Amino acid sequence: MRRPFVAGNWKMNGTRDGAKRLAAGVAEGVSGLEGVDVAVCPPYVFIPEVAQVLEGTKVAVGAQDVAKEQQGAYTGEVSGGMLKEFACRYVIVGHSERREYYCEDDALVAEKFASAQRDGLLPILCVGEKLEDREAGRTEDVVRDQLEAVLDRNGISAFAEAVIAYEPVWAIGTGRTATPDQAQEVHRFIRDLLSAADAEVAAGVRILYGGSVKAANAAELFAMPDIDGGLIGGASLDVAEFTTICRSAAV
Ligand code: PEP
Repeated sequence: MRRPFVAGNWKMNGTRDGAKRLAAGVAEGVSGLEGVDVAVCPPYVFIPEVAQVLEGTKVAVGAQDVAKEQQGAYTGEVSGGMLKEFACRYVIVGHSERREYYCEDDALVAEKFASAQRDGLLPILCVGEKLEDREAGRTEDVVRDQLEAVLDRNGISAFAEAVIAYEPVWAIGTGRTATPDQAQEVHRFIRDLLSAADAEVAAGVRILYGGSVKAANAAELFAMPDIDGGLIGGASLDVAEFTTICRSAAV
C-alpha cells in the first residue's frame, strides 16, 4: 500500500521568524499523527533554521528547486549536495511556476530530477496542463510529454525513489480545484503510463494532487484511489489549514 504524503510548498513567502513559527506549529499540529508522511518546502534561506526546528519531529524538509549541476561557477544556483547538508529529504522539480517564469523546459526538469537523485534527494516531479491545453483536449498529451522527458532521461527505475505531483496549472493559486473525478482521471493516466514500463514501480509511486487544496476539499480528493496525498501551496502557510489537510490524508 502507498503511504499518503502531504508536502507544503511555501514558495517565496514569510520571514525568518515566521518560517520558524510556521514549522513549529506544523510539527506540533501533526505530532502523533500516524499513517501519513509530511514535509514542508521553505525558501532556501530559511531551510537551515526550519530544519533545526523540525529535527526529531515527523515533519521532513524539502526544497523548492535544485541546480542541475553539482558545483562550480553557476551564480545563484544551489546544489542537491548543499541541500542534503541541511537535512533536506525532498526537492520539488518542474513546478509550473519554474516552467512558466524561469523558462524551465522538460529537458531541464529531467536533468534536475537526475541531479536530485544523484545527491540522495527524493524529487517531487510536478506535471500538469494549462487551461488552454485542457480546453483543447490536450491534457494527456502534455502530461505524457512531461513524464516521458524524465522517463527517457532517467529510466523507469528512477520512479521507485521519486514522488509525482499532478498540478493542473489552472488550479494553482486560483481557488479553482480540479474535481476529484478530473484529478483521478489524470492520476490514473499517469499510473497507467508508468505501468507500461514497470507495473511494480507504477503501483508503488505516490502521485500527489496539487491545485487549491484546502482543508475543506482535501478529504474528497484524497479519497480517490490514485490520489496519494497533496502538494499544498497557499494553504500550507496556515497551520490549522495545513494540519487539517494532513489529517485528511492519514490512513
Ligand atoms: C502549488 O503551487 O504547488 C500549489 C498547489 O499551490 P496552491 O495550493 O496555492 O494552488
